[in-house]
Amino acid sequence: MKSKVFEETQNLMKKYGINANKKLGQNFLVDDCVIEKIIETANLTKEDLVIEIGPGLGTLTKELLEKAGKVICIELDNRMIKILQDRFLEYDNFEIINEDVLKVDLQKIIKENKIKNNIKEVKVVANLPYYITTPIIMKLLEDKLDISQIVVMIQKEVAERLASLPGDKKCGAITYTVYYYAQVQEILTVPNTSFIPQPEVESEVISLNLRKEVAVKVEDEQKLFKLIKVAFMMRRKTLVNAIVNSNLGIQKEKIENVLEELKIDKKVRGENLSIEDFAKIAKKIK
Ligand code: SAM
Repeated sequence: MKSKVFEETQNLMKKYGINANKKLGQNFLVDDCVIEKIIETANLTKEDLVIEIGPGLGTLTKELLEKAGKVICIELDNRMIKILQDRFLEYDNFEIINEDVLKVDLQKIIKENKIKNNIKEVKVVANLPYYITTPIIMKLLEDKLDISQIVVMIQKEVAERLASLPGDKKCGAITYTVYYYAQVQEILTVPNTSFIPQPEVESEVISLNLRKEVAVKVEDEQKLFKLIKVAFMMRRKTLVNAIVNSNLGIQKEKIENVLEELKIDKKVRGENLSIEDFAKIAKKIK
């Protein structure tokens, strides 16, 4: 038997003549259990502002509006705007921004809404468009927004990378950056049958709980992230070789001396270092 949300989605697509736009990563969620789990994970109250990225036909939005104090949806596809306006006309806690999320000044929106709407916590909840998962998550973290939690559905492979710990097999440069800002929890694996149309990959819901203090204190964050990036760009090489072959302009002898001073093996690979190790190395190199 088809679920209620499956039928609702099919009806909406028919009524408004919507074909999913693959280029915009449109895979509509049609699984009641997954929707319930996402909402439960966000643990919403009427003092929360939720920013929903890519509401699409409004499947998650409906539940968010019931639970949160205010919901601001950011949707790029203007075909969805009329649908959302029609569906949520009666909610006075609903706002839509028809824009590319990467171009929106979230800092300003959060600041204004916190004052105006008596908001205590700001959360991001979304079934993200997969073609820009990483830029969106990086924007949410690197812009140092005043948010406490991010609950998102993303590709399973990316989720596993984000949720692994620095030093784990599946980690990449992004693992360290995310770890620096947040603690990641894997919530639920979602099969591709939970969407219309079905994506080619498996998905996963993850929750990022933003740290009150970043994981390590450094003077220059950009230097730390650049060093980590270099180490993972040439993952199979030792850290020394990766640095020497990069555009950081650091001599082999210099980096070897730094490692020796820090009592780190000169043959170490980036993937075996903790974020604290990278922070110590970054501090010692110019
Ligand atoms: N939330 C809906 C759901 O769960 O069924 C739709 C999710 S669908 C995976 C991703 C949504 O993000 C689509 O509605 C798409 O139009 C929208 N989108 C794509 N790129 C975007 C962008 N740059 N900024 C804002 N929304 C975008």
